[in-house]
Amino acid sequence: MVASEAVPYAKTGGLADVTGALPLELARVGHDVILLLPRYRCLIESGRSFRPVCRLRVPTSQGPVDTLVEEDILPAGQGDCRLRVWTIRNDALFDRPGLYQHLGLDYPDNLDRFSFFCRATIEVIAYLRTARRWNTHLLHLHDWQTALCAVYLNTVARNRQDVGAPEVRTVLTLHNVGYQGLFPAAQFENTGLPPSLFKPEALEYYGSVNLLKGGIVFADYITTVSPTYAREILTPEFGFGLEGVLRNREDQLLGIVNGIDVDRWNPETDSYLPANYSVIDRSGKLVCKRSLQREFQLPETSVPVLGMIARLTSQKGLDLVATILPQLMAMDLQLVILGTGEPGLEAKFKALQARYPHRMGLRIGFDEGLAHRIEGGADVFVMPSRYEPCGLSQLYSLRYGTVPVVRKTGGLADTVVPLNQQARQVERATGFHIEEDRADALLAVLRSALSAYQDRSIWEQLVEAGMTTDVSWVRSANDYDRLFVSLVRRWQPRVS
Ligand code: ADP
Repeated sequence: MVASEAVPYAKTGGLADVTGALPLELARVGHDVILLLPRYRCLIESGRSFRPVCRLRVPTSQGPVDTLVEEDILPAGQGDCRLRVWTIRNDALFDRPGLYQHLGLDYPDNLDRFSFFCRATIEVIAYLRTARRWNTHLLHLHDWQTALCAVYLNTVARNRQDVGAPEVRTVLTLHNVGYQGLFPAAQFENTGLPPSLFKPEALEYYGSVNLLKGGIVFADYITTVSPTYAREILTPEFGFGLEGVLRNREDQLLGIVNGIDVDRWNPETDSYLPANYSVIDRSGKLVCKRSLQREFQLPETSVPVLGMIARLTSQKGLDLVATILPQLMAMDLQLVILGTGEPGLEAKFKALQARYPHRMGLRIGFDEGLAHRIEGGADVFVMPSRYEPCGLSQLYSLRYGTVPVVRKTGGLADTVVPLNQQARQVERATGFHIEEDRADALLAVLRSALSAYQDRSIWEQLVEAGMTTDVSWVRSANDYDRLFVSLVRRWQPRVS
């Protein structure tokens, strides 16, 4: 498994939750998994102890560079089941304050950084095969940062005996097609790929280098993180220009909904919460709510508390929330927001918070503990995303009895069962769907959620149905397991 971030080492978003949990689950079902990560500064400062594994020579456009591979071991459940985490060291490229950017600006050499990481991955495969007699059957790649692995494996490394490329299947998981790793054409030569690959059928995208596109073209199989998103990305609205390339791969494209780490996100044991609770005894949730109101200096009243945790980007529909805020603030509720992102949106929410200090709480920044406390203390979780490949926060919300109000898109549509107000079909319902990408639609659905909140029996059923929904990795990992096994079996070289 090759990833540019993974919990508990480095995280900027939901990708890290997936790449932190899935390999552990795959190890539990019997796969021998190595997780490869760049050795960022946050890993060096993580306090975890890594031990050296080997030194590798990685080709770059500036000539070969020596890299140290180091190992950390994570227990993966009962007995001696474990996950090996190997890090690729290159201090000039990775010993920096951010993963991909600093102070809101992408590092200008991101292509060099992640092509180095992908080339190092190929060398790791060769090392494992030659020095450890450990053959890689499948390389699971995530997003644009690791997409080049599939390209290298199927082009420049194809005939290398030490790599054994024909035996290695590649699966590229798309966590968000909105982020493609686009770079100026002049940087293409830094990838070390032949110029012939800079063409529209491979890595060129309207005169730029598009790393994700390369991965989509060259990977054996493509997955994305929900069935609805797998259909959506074939359309111009959600494909961000790659819909045509994706349609070409439609027969090798599958949507598998993410799970969550149910140990890390468990209201019964969560140490970030001021009180724990379960679906049977939910008294602790009220303690969490009061404490959350205190933390945001809001009056400790019984009005519903709406929570939001999100990157402050237009993808997350935060501008819609800003638009309806005056109407929301006229209603009997409180709103707490945790997020960081676009400076314009940060400023807008700061100004709104100053206007409504007794109804709205705002924390700009990244705060894992507070994210848990919002999930624990809020009554309603709001996610009006324009698109959402899977979304994790609504899954945490289900588990924490915080009823999600979500835009009907991607994984949000797949994981939240809407309450049908007409039929009052409450048994299976776990939340509310916003049908359209419009501020008035968001406001209307929030009004019906708040009216349901007044009906204790309906609300209790929503909370219970959410808290008892299976959001664990077990089911998703089984889907990946089935896919991986079928790919490896199908392509295994025939023995004559
Ligand atoms: P995305 O990956 O698009 O950002 P997801 O809903 O899939 O969205 O995952 C977001 C993850 O990041 C969740 O675990 C959420 O709790 C966390 N998160 C987002 N913003 C913050 C923040 N400001 N502080 C703490 N956690 C955050």
